[in-house]
Amino acid sequence: MRFPLALTAKIAAYIIGKKLRGVEKFATVLQLEPLHTCNLTCTGCGRIREYSTSLKNVMPLEDCLGAAAECDAPMVSICGGEPLIYPQIEALVGGLLGQGRIVYVCTNASFMRKKMREYLAMETLRASASVDEKIQVLLSEELISQKDADEIRKGPKDETKPVIAPSDWMYWNVHLDGLERTHDLIVEREGVFKEAVLAMRMAKILGYQVATNTTVYKETEVQEIEDMFAFLSSLALDGHTIAPGYEYDAAKVDMVKRLGIEPETFFLTRKLTIEKFANVEKWGEQYPIFGTPVYLEFLAGKRDLTCSAWAIPTRNVRGWKGPCYLMTDGHYTSYRELLEKTNWDAIGVVDGVARDPRCENCMMNCGYEPTAALGLHAQPGDMWKNIKFNFGKRPLGTPNAEIEAFNGVSAGKGHLTGGKKDIPAETAVTA
Ligand code: SF4
Ligand code: SF4
Repeated sequence: MRFPLALTAKIAAYIIGKKLRGVEKFATVLQLEPLHTCNLTCTGCGRIREYSTSLKNVMPLEDCLGAAAECDAPMVSICGGEPLIYPQIEALVGGLLGQGRIVYVCTNASFMRKKMREYLAMETLRASASVDEKIQVLLSEELISQKDADEIRKGPKDETKPVIAPSDWMYWNVHLDGLERTHDLIVEREGVFKEAVLAMRMAKILGYQVATNTTVYKETEVQEIEDMFAFLSSLALDGHTIAPGYEYDAAKVDMVKRLGIEPETFFLTRKLTIEKFANVEKWGEQYPIFGTPVYLEFLAGKRDLTCSAWAIPTRNVRGWKGPCYLMTDGHYTSYRELLEKTNWDAIGVVDGVARDPRCENCMMNCGYEPTAALGLHAQPGDMWKNIKFNFGKRPLGTPNAEIEAFNGVSAGKGHLTGGKKDIPAETAVTA
């Protein structure tokens, strides 16, 4: 199966229960943003630009857990900002798992290895022999240093502080926008891709579930996406999501002011999205891509869907963000208020016409995947397609040892990734 049976059953039972009770609009995934602080400044990121980046602006733990209980979505994606900076991330993950939710920790992976070392240190109290075996493997794979190993063996610094342990109900969801050069260029820092790969390898050795999350921009070459999936196949990860980049207003302003790039050179139009995703159904057959085949058909331009942004609500430091994960017209005090006060008939694209001009180029999963998953625009045969996609044999990918994933260093030219100097001249603002 593409997605574990217990998790699929949980989601299916939830959706069927809502439909049987005649509930028209309900949450399937909560995008929980406990903070907007991040250690990176990715080029296309609207979040860190739209919201304060002060560490003082965090959601209290009880509000985070209360938001999940209130909307009752079976899946919670903890994002941000960088969620591993959230001071109570361990208690948050544990609390959500305790509520029976499927938890995704969406991370740039910079702090993943630290969190996993803390987990190992705690494990020494329970099973020190097996921790020692793991340490030997991690040392031989150069995923921890001898100093790290010594620290782990000393045990936890605070035995009462929770840790993030492997769970069948939790995924590390690692942000990866391409191979080394592209990814480090987009996240605007060298070494981030390498660290993400080390963290994912370490996570798999320790028994965590690991997925990746890729945004495709105008500059992303289709061949590179295919190379990235082939490279990731060699890491034996659990799944991937992929979506087209959206032009956040805040990101657009930042691009012009700080980087001197015109947003049109970076973000995709609908037409370009369809071109870039022409092979997405093939990728879905080859690789363990999460989601629905209907959404993939939509991305490939083979069918139309309308937006169901109400199914993937966002809760952050200011409240329930509306109307969707991408656009901000206001923040509400409850999920119910978000549902009641948003004019859902005024958003999305219907029959090629944008009901809100800001939606014109959006084909993102946060609006359209739930439409597909909930069968809101079902066509004959969709149910069979979904069953085959999700219950059929899990694609294992096609590892390719020839892929040069670590392509950020170019012999004789120094490291190409990183700063303003690296933005191709043709994309720079000249006026
Ligand atoms: S890692 Fe995520 S939150 Fe941080 S800047 Fe990049 S996209 Fe934004
Ligand atoms: S189409 Fe996209 S931008 Fe518009 S409401 Fe839906 S998710 Fe938001």
